[in-house]
Amino acid sequence: VSESSILDWLRSTSRASSRVPIPIGDDLAALKLDANDGLILVGVDQVLDRVHFDAREHAPELIGRKAVNRNLSDCAAMACEPVAAVLSLALPRGCGDDFVKRLIDGARDACSAFNCHLVGGDTGSWDGPLAVTVAVIGASRGVEPIRRSGAKPGDHLYITGPLGGSILGRHLTFEPRVTLARELVRACEVHAMLDLSDGLSRDLPRLCAASNVGATIDASLIPIHADARKLPGDPLDHALHDGEDYELLFAAPACDHPAAICIGTITAEPGVRITRDGTTRPLEPRGWDHAL
Ligand SMILES: [Mg+2]
Repeated sequence: VSESSILDWLRSTSRASSRVPIPIGDDLAALKLDANDGLILVGVDQVLDRVHFDAREHAPELIGRKAVNRNLSDCAAMACEPVAAVLSLALPRGCGDDFVKRLIDGARDACSAFNCHLVGGDTGSWDGPLAVTVAVIGASRGVEPIRRSGAKPGDHLYITGPLGGSILGRHLTFEPRVTLARELVRACEVHAMLDLSDGLSRDLPRLCAASNVGATIDASLIPIHADARKLPGDPLDHALHDGEDYELLFAAPACDHPAAICIGTITAEPGVRITRDGTTRPLEPRGWDHAL
């Protein structure tokens, strides 16, 4: 891969913006933020071949898209607006320019969908597998960032869509809930929120631990995605444990936004429980663990 030819191509195909007075191509890009932007939020996330995607099977556009959208999903979780992103590629030796351009195209399209600018990056080749790292900068822009730590006993727990079976393709093609998150926060008193990346059974305990509360969810209220029913095993188990749904999970006193699906309540008693067929038992975390 020739980094300078990729850079020339990126420069010539990037759209200009008054928010990016020094665009891609210099040592650093410059962003012009104003008083309306409020707090600046920043995060980074990586996707790895054979862990988060399979470079033998998946189109490079989808890999780039996923790398960006995981970051945008974190923006949604905080209810901020993404402003700019940078991307770093560890490329397997012999990877061609065409593959890299297609990957970057996918990343840039994902950014553009939310008016976010891809303003820089880096590439390196090595004998290892493909790794894609994206860092994102967001702005609160009139919406106070929502943390994981504000859930209160008595709050209802909501999710924004059906869960399970993302392995059949949605883990690559999901739409980050950036716009919806800001809508929800304006419509409802959202106390705590995160995006469901590792599965409800892993992510809900994180929200509860951060908030110093517990939760009881009702199996009959959890919307199960049609994909979960196409896989072997109990569809509810897929909904609870598969992960990579990238829906939002949030706690609020009450929320009648049409996208909010109530699945349970926040309790003062610690721990996470699930009620199914009249029996309540602890919900064991069996979700996707990226550390494995
Ligand atoms: Mg997250």
